[in-house]
Amino acid sequence: MKEKIDLLGAGLIGSLLAIYLKKRGLDVDIYEKRQDWRKIKKYGEGRSINMALSYRGWKALEKAGIKDKVMPYTLPMSGRRIHDEHGSTYFQPYGKENQAIYSISRNAFNAILLDEAEALGANIYFNHKVERVNVSKREVEFCLENGEEKHMVSDILIGSDGSFSALRNAFQSQLRFNFYQKFISHGYKELHIPPTPSGEFALDPKALHIWPRGKFMLIALPNLDKSFTCTLFLPFEGYKVSFENIYDDQDVVQIFKTYFNDAFDLMPNLLADFKNNPTSALINTECYPWTENNALLIGDAAHAMVPFYGQGMNCGFEDCYILDNLIEKYGTSSWDLVFEKFQKQRKPDTDAICQLAMDNFVEMSDDIADPKFLIRKKIEAKLHQLYPNEWQPLYSMVTFSDMRYSEAYAIGKLQEKIMDDVMKDPNVTKNWNNLDYEAILAKVETSGAV
Ligand SMILES: Cc1cc2nc3c(=O)[nH]c(=O)nc-3n(C[C@H](O)[C@H](O)[C@H](O)COP(=O)(O)OP(=O)(O)OC[C@H]3O[C@@H](n4cnc5c(N)ncnc54)[C@H](O)[C@@H]3O)c2cc1C
Repeated sequence: MKEKIDLLGAGLIGSLLAIYLKKRGLDVDIYEKRQDWRKIKKYGEGRSINMALSYRGWKALEKAGIKDKVMPYTLPMSGRRIHDEHGSTYFQPYGKENQAIYSISRNAFNAILLDEAEALGANIYFNHKVERVNVSKREVEFCLENGEEKHMVSDILIGSDGSFSALRNAFQSQLRFNFYQKFISHGYKELHIPPTPSGEFALDPKALHIWPRGKFMLIALPNLDKSFTCTLFLPFEGYKVSFENIYDDQDVVQIFKTYFNDAFDLMPNLLADFKNNPTSALINTECYPWTENNALLIGDAAHAMVPFYGQGMNCGFEDCYILDNLIEKYGTSSWDLVFEKFQKQRKPDTDAICQLAMDNFVEMSDDIADPKFLIRKKIEAKLHQLYPNEWQPLYSMVTFSDMRYSEAYAIGKLQEKIMDDVMKDPNVTKNWNNLDYEAILAKVETSGAV
């Protein structure tokens, strides 16, 4: 008898994995705690958090045969547009001329993937909240919408149920399971910039907008309806500008007028948005092993990262891609082997991107506003232009390539050391264009890390 795969969680990763598994001819059931949100909103309609999709994500979508269906729902952003405190802006390209990351509404994206999984024959059970899992029996207990309980025993169980995974909770009672979680000091709130009265984008739609202010920042990504979804990142407490010090509308207005005045002018619904939208926390989780008794964790359930590299979803999609390669290689009759190979291959890479995501908060909120940082980026861009194969900026390795995250991390550390030395030159700001670029590159080559 053919084994059935049970997926817990119909988020972005569970939905894409269902497509892959169906395409391998497997029976797939997905259990999701939410109701079917596709019935509430049509694609692209209404406000929604948006995500930046980059190379690894596209590659996984292409292999699943769904890239062309997703593309019309995306908007390319070829760089960051930095907004300083005086209202001036400048543009920093993310990579080469034709390289971009793509803004897409999370809800619309999830709906496209679910529709595809369903069209391929996956069964989706909404309003099925996993309450408990017995890992040794692979027995799952659900709570349904009407409060009833339901039990299921699974052949193959995959937890794609996000950063507070119920399957991972069950793994925690297993011997030698390691789990680490950290809520960072900052939280976030979604805000909104509507289209202008004439129906146009209020800001340049080809950029991800950032208002970096040291310990806090605002970002904005474009939507298909010509609005922008903004995310305000603030410390919860301990600083003058923090969530704990915002008591009323006046405080909100004062912060926006002082630090984000050009954005403030574009946000007629700021006060209502601020009041109505929740303040959310940001978590990093790492755990191991990811598999036990033919059950596996994937996506955020295995490795939830803070959002500052825009890689959580892209990384989860890459998980699906790699898992599918292993299924292709080892077949569907030895899941323990496939899952074991998957966790061994993938864990060093997800550790690396979790760390990079943490580190990138400092770059996004602080460094990018520093003129010396801009010179540093120019030198790195020139190195890349002169020696495209030997020097790739870390951001490009992570965002525009499928180099293993762990390799990108190691090379990035070496480049950081070399660039720290280059930046010690007191004349670097004036002379950056005429440095001895060959000598800089030689430092990489002598280290053997090209
Ligand atoms: C503010 C913010 C911005 C981000 N921006 C980006 C970005 O630009 N680019 C990027 O690549 N990543 C980004 N990420 C990360 C990205 O959102 C996650 O990595 C991605 O959503 C993980 O997908 P997932 O399917 O593993 O988990 P989720 O998206 O969390 O999906 C899990 C699913 O499981 C369901 N579920 C949970 N518990 C249960 C249960 N007990 N029973 C049944 N179902 C359950 C949930 O309802 C949900 O549908 C961002 C994250 C945040 C917080």
